[in-house]
Amino acid sequence: MRLRIGAKSDTGRIREGNEDAFLVDERMGLVAVADGMGGHRAGEVASATALEALRANVASGTPIRDAIANANTAVLEKSESDESLQGMGTTVTAGTVASGDTLLVAHVGDSRLYLLRDGALRRVTEDHSLVEELVRDGQLTPEQAAVHPRRSVITRALGVDKEIEVDLHPLALHIGDRLVFCSDGLTTMLHDDQIGAVLRRESDPQRVAAQLVADANKAGGEDNITVVVVDAVSGDSLVEHPAPLPEEVESPDPSAVDAQQGAEPKRPRARRVARVTTRALLWALPVIAVLALAVGTAGWYARRTYFVTITDERVVLYKGRPGGAFGWDPTVETVTDLRSSQLTAAQRDDLDGELTFSSRSEADDYLDRLAEGARRPSRSTTTTTVPVVAP
Ligand code: MG
Repeated sequence: MRLRIGAKSDTGRIREGNEDAFLVDERMGLVAVADGMGGHRAGEVASATALEALRANVASGTPIRDAIANANTAVLEKSESDESLQGMGTTVTAGTVASGDTLLVAHVGDSRLYLLRDGALRRVTEDHSLVEELVRDGQLTPEQAAVHPRRSVITRALGVDKEIEVDLHPLALHIGDRLVFCSDGLTTMLHDDQIGAVLRRESDPQRVAAQLVADANKAGGEDNITVVVVDAVSGDSLVEHPAPLPEEVESPDPSAVDAQQGAEPKRPRARRVARVTTRALLWALPVIAVLALAVGTAGWYARRTYFVTITDERVVLYKGRPGGAFGWDPTVETVTDLRSSQLTAAQRDDLDGELTFSSRSEADDYLDRLAEGARRPSRSTTTTTVPVVAP
């Protein structure tokens, strides 16, 4: 299989400059469209910087997702280095030919990739735009989104943040497939039906690209318009080093594409979040179990003993360890009627050392003996007296 490619980019009828850019490299098997934004033509710099970095990275063997992350860094660094470029950003929708006639599509922003297969047109990418998210959430209809005043607001772009989330779509190519990479200057001017009609009518990819740009201009040409048309035709591939499919991408099921025609766009983000959550839980469960066991053991150790001491001149029985352990403070079990003044000096010394017991009954026995001794106050002194023997 080889690719036949046609491309056209146009300023449109309203804008002063063209901030879109595209990249076609048949030998690298790389195609991309970027739609730059930013004041004073900074958008031109953003889209060109991103595609230059993308090309350099893919040429040196960097996987497409990392290549886009590096392109994001390149745009960020450029905007930070020059005040007139601050706040610039760009979309990128790119495809690289990977082994097994698979096109690996990487996508950020509201440019799009369409696939025409067996006469049916479907969107491969999902717009990262405010209105499309509202449509997906059921808060707007596609008709309302098409005329929404904030339809150009995008929710993901290169050059905004150090972290970039990239959608990846592996697409198993068939002979006869026609792909269209385009900026929103095409899709805000033409409905999918109008785009599909041109794709079906015209065979030469370069003429298709030119016709779509002309039709978008006829419809108003309110934004820059960029179209890259890629036909999969029979013949030897010109791609010199098709990239291996990255591990995180499952090999595409060719029949899955057909099954999805006319269906809702895929939701890779939700799937990825679900997968990460599941993986995190699998790791977390044993950790939680061990922590719970440790906490339980510490609690059992901290709380299993009793001790008796003098608090505010009264003999008090506590549950726990003197001074507490592992965050568990001892709690008062009983405040007895015994006062420290009723105890012998030796008993008071014992209690200063916070006498501990391994069970409540042992502690109670001790308190009973202490109370009994206190009821015989002279006992301690009588032990030293010699019984008087009558002469
Ligand atoms: Mg645009």
